[in-house]
Amino acid sequence: MTLQIPFDNSYARLPETFYARQAPQPVRAPRLIRLNTTLAEELGLDPDHLASEDGVAMLAGNHVPEGAAPLAQAYAGHQFGNFVPQLGDGRAILLGEVLDRQGRRRDIQLKGAGRTPFSRAGDGRAALGPVLREYIVSEAMHALGIPTTRALAAVTTGEDVWRNTRLPGAVLTRVAASHIRVGTFQYFAVRGDTDALRVLADHVITRHYPEAETGLDLLNAVIGAQARLIAQWMGVGFIHGVMNTDNMAVSGETIDFGPCAFMDGYHPDTVFSSIDHMGRYAYARQADMAVWNLAQLATCLLPLIDTDQERAIAFATAAIEGFGDVFRDAWLSVFRPKFGLARAEDDDASLIHGFLDLMAAQGTDFTNGFRAIAEGKPPFSNTPAGADWAMRWQTRLARESDRRHVQDGRMRAANPAYIPRNHRIEEAIAAAMEDDFKPFETLLDLLATPYADRPDRIDFRAPPRPEQVVRQTFC
Ligand code: AMP
Ligand code: MG
Ligand code: MG
Repeated sequence: MTLQIPFDNSYARLPETFYARQAPQPVRAPRLIRLNTTLAEELGLDPDHLASEDGVAMLAGNHVPEGAAPLAQAYAGHQFGNFVPQLGDGRAILLGEVLDRQGRRRDIQLKGAGRTPFSRAGDGRAALGPVLREYIVSEAMHALGIPTTRALAAVTTGEDVWRNTRLPGAVLTRVAASHIRVGTFQYFAVRGDTDALRVLADHVITRHYPEAETGLDLLNAVIGAQARLIAQWMGVGFIHGVMNTDNMAVSGETIDFGPCAFMDGYHPDTVFSSIDHMGRYAYARQADMAVWNLAQLATCLLPLIDTDQERAIAFATAAIEGFGDVFRDAWLSVFRPKFGLARAEDDDASLIHGFLDLMAAQGTDFTNGFRAIAEGKPPFSNTPAGADWAMRWQTRLARESDRRHVQDGRMRAANPAYIPRNHRIEEAIAAAMEDDFKPFETLLDLLATPYADRPDRIDFRAPPRPEQVVRQTFC
């Protein structure tokens, strides 16, 4: 049976300067590791078709189905603050877009599909470990209710890739609202191509922010989406790790799961990236780094904001300065329910910081500390400061209008029991390297319902033993 995918490729209809047409490079021996059947159905694709020989050939890049318009997108980006005028998809190929069952436009992209004109020194490929990490973490993120790119499938290629050592190769099929980044705007801004910027802005507005009417509206919409996203990351102890402007999607979805991680023991300065020596992208710096990135976007949009550049700068500056308030509101909206709170009071931020400070002082496991209070258990060992905080919290809870069991339910729905713990991910990857995908499947199954009680899987709630602690993660 031939693969019928109803592609509708709006990005491929944009000017030629936006991308390089590029077919994926076939691999030797594709084998399906995992197909996300729920997501396939959501996209209106037939899971049986995708799992068929033709389907797997497509997911490996060996077969370009009818209607696809494969291309590598052009973009620039600030990497750790250094501007690179041309990055682009060096190992990802956009097959095309489909309208899902709800009418939302979604990109279908193969990551690790071979070299492109943007590959520079890279091999265009992906190794099995990072493909599985992205699959696990992006799907967990989705189940936690946080906007993110998705994983539709993972295949092994039957080919090796070199990353200091020989590793099995794999391809991830990534689904996104779009893959347009802050760096996509930078690509045209640095070239002084205002016409292209206008076309790109119109495309993004149509696609993501139809209520926006002006360049300034667009900027404000992206600021809001990013403020809410970062607040949600912080609520689950997530550290993105490489918040370069090319890794910030204008849609507000989490993208690029490189040296990312969910923290075990809480500390605001935590970093997992082996190259982030300065802690630029540490847990507690993520909102500041988002502002830095959004200021780059604002700079790109200046010609679209006002013909008078003085005025444009004034408008853009005010918008960027507005991030703080939007973020604070979003952060409180994320953290209040974690403490059972529905009402807003002026001292809530101080109550929340009080708890975080106590966790930091004791190195309390972030996830378990919050889940403990949802389960009526002590979050950390008993100290006078801890007892003071608990008293203050109880007094605050008493001022809520709803009953205790409603508050408990609110906490359980906001404080997950299960997150993709680094040592469990490493365990799953290590087994997969020996061709055992069961731990990977087990983890995915558990992380699909992160707020549920799973008495049979209590071991997956445990923090790592000292010898299991993962200090660095890699893409
Ligand atoms: P990242 O650090 O994942 O955001 O990637 C930064 C840039 O490097 C992007 O332009 C990627 O497409 C490119 N890149 C990463 N890995 C490879 C690879 N193996 N081959 C070619 N390009 C790559
Ligand atoms: Mg990237
Ligand atoms: Mg990456």
